[in-house]
Order: sequence, then structure tokens, then C-alpha cells
Amino acid sequence: MLRNFMKKLLLLIILTKISFSQEDINLELYQKAIDLSKEILIIDTHIDLPNWIFNENFDVNLISQEDQFDFVRAKQGGLNIAFLSIFTSVTQASLGKSKERADFLINTVKNNLSKFPDKFKIITSFNEIDTTNKEILYVVLGMENGSPIEDKIENLIHYHKEGIKYITLTHYKSNLIGDSANDSIKVWNGLSEFGKNLIKEMNRYGIMIDVSHISDSTFFDIIEITSAPIIASHSACRYFTPGFERNLSDDIIKEIAKKRGVVQIPFADFFLREDANKKFIQNEIEVEKFIKENYLGHNSRAAEEFELNYWKENPLPKSSVIDVANHIDHIVKLVGIDFVGIGSDFNGVRTEFITSGLEDCSKYPNLIYELLRRNYSVEDIKKIMGLNFLRVWKEVEEIANGLK
Ligand SMILES: [Zn+2]
Repeated sequence: MLRNFMKKLLLLIILTKISFSQEDINLELYQKAIDLSKEILIIDTHIDLPNWIFNENFDVNLISQEDQFDFVRAKQGGLNIAFLSIFTSVTQASLGKSKERADFLINTVKNNLSKFPDKFKIITSFNEIDTTNKEILYVVLGMENGSPIEDKIENLIHYHKEGIKYITLTHYKSNLIGDSANDSIKVWNGLSEFGKNLIKEMNRYGIMIDVSHISDSTFFDIIEITSAPIIASHSACRYFTPGFERNLSDDIIKEIAKKRGVVQIPFADFFLREDANKKFIQNEIEVEKFIKENYLGHNSRAAEEFELNYWKENPLPKSSVIDVANHIDHIVKLVGIDFVGIGSDFNGVRTEFITSGLEDCSKYPNLIYELLRRNYSVEDIKKIMGLNFLRVWKEVEEIANGLK
């Protein structure tokens, strides 16, 4: 009796944090969501490297205070497979340091996680996944920004050997591969000649093509070339944020589905809501204006201080787990249940922009609860939380084997 009461109290505490009003809470359904999270395969396709991975003395049995991802909370949330992002910045590319940085990050992840073989296992093929083993956290390496490839296929082969399983072709600026959604200057009007060749080679090596961050024209060039399904590791629907090229238009989502690919929805205000997206862009403009008008360097203390205060004083309208489910609904209505999943972008967005109810990797049950509430079947939820992405991964590897 007391145990049941305590359980209900605990559920209530969790639920009050996820913007459902009290009367809406269905405790039985929420328990079902928690139980499901422990049973089904959960794959999150975009998590940036947490700070603790750089700290050799970090105790992985503890919750990290400054990160949104760690082993303890991943297991609380039922996460099975985490794609960790080997990210290099536009600045590092301009200094010719991308490759050096990517190699350093790959070594850091491998060295630090290999110390805990009972907790983490870095894998390079879906064949290595034991879906019945819920104890271990499988880690897969993805690369965000293709700059470390430079314009050399031999670098692609190097990263293939290192275990990189997808490449997000660009970040905020166009690079040697193609144009970025966030860059107003379109250097190539799509893919460069090297980029076109790279797509074919990625097909051959079984490396998934990630279309998050790229421009629309780059996307339509890829569609013409790729023989394998493509992924968007962390992109939402432009339908909810008109004019925001970083999210995917309905036409693009339809093309992804036609190619049997998958769209992985991230958890951040500016991806999910039009009002938050508009304010985000406006805030960025205001901060930039101040920096320019005062002749400050972007990394100067004054600029950083202004930026921090400005965002504090001008917070974004908050997104919730309901918005994430709205994006999932939209894709399901547009192309069906087989082409949508989740790519949180944990550690990639600042804490104040993270979707409420999905603040860290212990919170996946909140999304499962919302999907149950919307009458998604268990089979459908399994697809969204991992099986759709797993299907794409398998197909990409099978196609690569056929091309050998
Ligand atoms: Zn990103």
C-alpha cells in the first residue's frame, strides 16, 4: 500500500515537470510508458559530447551536473543506443584544424569509454547490437560537419576505419562538400563536385548521409545521387517554423520517405515552435548588432557578457513534449509511421532552450507517455523510438555490401 502510494507520488513529481496539467495525468498510462521504456529499443541519433568525457577522473556512476547525457540517466530513461557527435566547428575548419580536432575527439571517446566495458560498448555495425541486453549502453560515432574529410576520399576511408557511421555534411557554413542551410552565401548552389563523389563513396562504405544542417539545394543534389536511404539526425519540420531552412520542408520529408530514410526530431524550443524560432533569430540579430556597433570581438569578455545577459532578459517561449509529438504527428500524417524518430541534440543546445519535459536523457518516458496518450500503438512507438532508424542503418549497410 505504502509502496504504491510512494510510487504514485514519485510519478506525480516527475509529471509535474512536463507541462501536463494535473487533471490530465493518467498514472496508469504513465507507468506503462516507464515500463515500455525499459523494454523497447531506444536510439537517440544526435548527442553532442558531454563535458565529462574529457574528464579522466569523472565517476560514471554519478549524474553529471553540467551535461544532459550520462550513463546513469541514460539507463533511467531506457536509452540503448547513443550516437555521439564528433563535432568540429566552422572556425576550426577556417584554421585548417578540423581533422586534427576530429581525430582528438575520436581518441578521447574511445579511450575514456573503454575504461568501462560493463557500461559502454562502441559499435560499428547493427550486427553487434544485442537487443535483449538493457544493461549496456551502445555508443556509435557520428560526425557533425564533414570538414575533417577536407576534399580527400582517403580521409573518408580513415574515418570509416575509425568507426564513423554517419556524417552531417555541413555545419553553419558552406564547406568543401556543399552549402549549409544557415549560410546566406551559397558557394556551390548545392553539392560541390567533390561532394557529389563523396556521396557515392559514402554509399559504398556504408556511412549514412545526414542531411541536417545542409541547404535545400544540397539536399536535392544528394537525392539525385544516393542509392542508399538518408537520415536527418536532428531536424524538425519547417511546417511549424516557416522560412527556417535548418528544418525540413514537407517536400524534403516526402523525398526522404521515398528514399526510405528517416527524420529524427530534436528537443529544442527554436526547432519546434514558430514563436520561439522567431525570437531566437531576433535575439541573434540583436546580439550581433551590439558586437558590431561596439567593435567587439566575438570571443571578447564584453561580447560574451552581453550575450549571456541578453538571452537571460529575452527568454524564448518554451517548447514541451507536446510540441515534439506534434512534429511526429505531422510526419506520420505526411508520409506514414516508418520515417520518423528522435535525435535530441543533448549537449548541443544551451540548457535554457531545451524542451521542457525532455531536459536530459532520463526523460524519454515522457515522450512515450505523450505518444500513448495520442493513441499510438506499442508497435508504432517502437518504430519511432528506434526501429525506424535501425531499419535505415541495416539498409545502408546492406546496400554497401552489394556495392563491394
Ligand atoms: Zn547540429
